[in-house]
Amino acid sequence: MPLIVQKFGGTSVADSQKILAAARKAIRAQQQGNQVVVVVSAMGKNTDVLVDLAREITDRPSAREMDMLLSTGEQVSIALMAMAIDALGNQAVSMTGAQMGIRTDSTHTKARIQSISTDRLRQALDEGIIVIAAGFQGIDEHQNITTLGRGGSDTTAVALAAVLRADACEIYTDVDGVYTTDPRVLPEARMLRQVSYDEMLELASLGAGVMHSRSIEFAKKFGVPIHVRSSFSDIPGTLIVAEPEDAEQPVSGAALAKDEARVTLLGVPDRPGASLAIFAKIAARNIAVDMIVQNVGAQGKADVSFTVLREELPTTLEAVRSAVDELGADGWSQDDNVSKVSVVGLGMATQSGVAERMFRALADAGVNILMITTSEIKISVLVSREQAALALRTVHQAFELHKPPVHAPRPVAAPAGSATPLEVLSRLQSMEGLRINDVSLDDTQARLTINSVPDTPGVAAQVFERIARDGVLVDMIVQSCGVGGRANLTCTVPRGDLPRSVALAAEVVRELGCGPVTSSDQVAKLSVSGIGMRSHAGVAIRMFQALSEAGINVEMVNTSEVQVNVVVEGRHGGAALARLEETFQAARG
Ligand code: ADP
Ligand code: ASP
Ligand code: MG
Repeated sequence: MPLIVQKFGGTSVADSQKILAAARKAIRAQQQGNQVVVVVSAMGKNTDVLVDLAREITDRPSAREMDMLLSTGEQVSIALMAMAIDALGNQAVSMTGAQMGIRTDSTHTKARIQSISTDRLRQALDEGIIVIAAGFQGIDEHQNITTLGRGGSDTTAVALAAVLRADACEIYTDVDGVYTTDPRVLPEARMLRQVSYDEMLELASLGAGVMHSRSIEFAKKFGVPIHVRSSFSDIPGTLIVAEPEDAEQPVSGAALAKDEARVTLLGVPDRPGASLAIFAKIAARNIAVDMIVQNVGAQGKADVSFTVLREELPTTLEAVRSAVDELGADGWSQDDNVSKVSVVGLGMATQSGVAERMFRALADAGVNILMITTSEIKISVLVSREQAALALRTVHQAFELHKPPVHAPRPVAAPAGSATPLEVLSRLQSMEGLRINDVSLDDTQARLTINSVPDTPGVAAQVFERIARDGVLVDMIVQSCGVGGRANLTCTVPRGDLPRSVALAAEVVRELGCGPVTSSDQVAKLSVSGIGMRSHAGVAIRMFQALSEAGINVEMVNTSEVQVNVVVEGRHGGAALARLEETFQAARG
């Protein structure tokens, strides 16, 4: 019998009428011949109310007690939903995370699912009972209640769909589907008919709150097709599957992470292991960092900048202070008034000119870019919070995201049911564990750095337009955070194009009165790809550790949900590859 998982978010169960409406949807699905699992979130803004209550008691609530508190929100909804189905004349049973056997690690408030035992679920389903599952929660090995992180009910739903090998996973929410960007911020945003796992992973982790990013890790890992749709209308919604809506579009969506903070460690000794010392301390506090940028060292010292969620700044700074002491760095600075605007698209991996189109548009709108990082399928810029909405609207317009795609989406990939039971079983053993697909070396690139560019709007656009006009395919781009009104712009280009690129950069430098231009034709780029690379904060750390042990200095870093790249001196390429292959051997999937 086909099995369907339906998840209802907070707004979709905000009052009794909405709970009854959701109950009717579940009953209809059962009457159409499906076994049905319903995953629910806490009613309305209940989780926020509970968070506020805790804050009224203390600034630093214990994480264990926070989970005890927050998990009650979902417990209210499952009971009411089960009563609603019963009142409508059908059978239902509610289950907490513990009752479903959702076993997690012990990282309270951000726990990861380790396993789900399906016996009890299956038994109820086989008896024709609709199972009402509490989203967002689990239990650790010591029977403590854990939660999966805000928005985590999506992850419960997709994880259940994966273990039960569901035929469909429907996410009912308060928008019609996944849009090119948050439609509440930009009304001109367009609903996507389809979006690929990789794009959705990036968009979600870069700020598109419509899906919990870890739910997409599950979906990709286990091949679960997700259908995001409205609780309140019959619009078909959006499919999240392997293929993008239009593979030829360079950009599929844009995301805004409004409340970010930037931290810079100044004058860090430029030697192997320095990055490791910093990021290991941050990862030990379970904080994910993004936009890591290291200025190529001058006089044996480098500045290392990165971003974190603003709410995690105080804890991050504890780690930073201790790293500054340990490394003998000159000091640190921070700015908690910044936002990150990103564009994402599978198509940009194979097209040139995407970055400068974004930089030009931002320059023309008078937006100052504070930092830049790029990876294969995303470009992120850091801007001041006051300019964030303008920046988002500008890039949305620049890539014409409001317009429907030119090419029709390809047919949807095979559903979850296609994996053999044995395959699923072996993959489930480490549900949310790290999975590495590939470790590779690219030794065809060179590095180009323009030092001391003025930290004003339009500089990045000017530089990359000039280089791209000559047809050079620029790969990794990073712009460091400006110190004293000056920033460094670094990129990699194909080695054969380096002389040309240096000459073009020299022209721009003369016009801008900055510089010098420095370069190295001996660089090696190493990539580790997999699933959930950023949310597993440990991946970058393990790379730094392995390279540091081999005495190899990291010159550039970029991270995305699907790949972490580092650039090292060219002569170390082979050794670095061997080290990384060894390091990630156990996580190869
Ligand atoms: P639920 O309670 O159903 O899980 P959420 O509030 O978590 O709902 O997610 C839905 C919200 O996500 C929407 O109301 C919308 O404001 C926001 N959102 C952010 N980015 C996007 C996007 N790209 N597409 C659609 N909605 C988005
Ligand atoms: N109730 C939780 C939250 O508000 C989980 C969820 O809704 O997905 O974050
Ligand atoms: Mg949500």
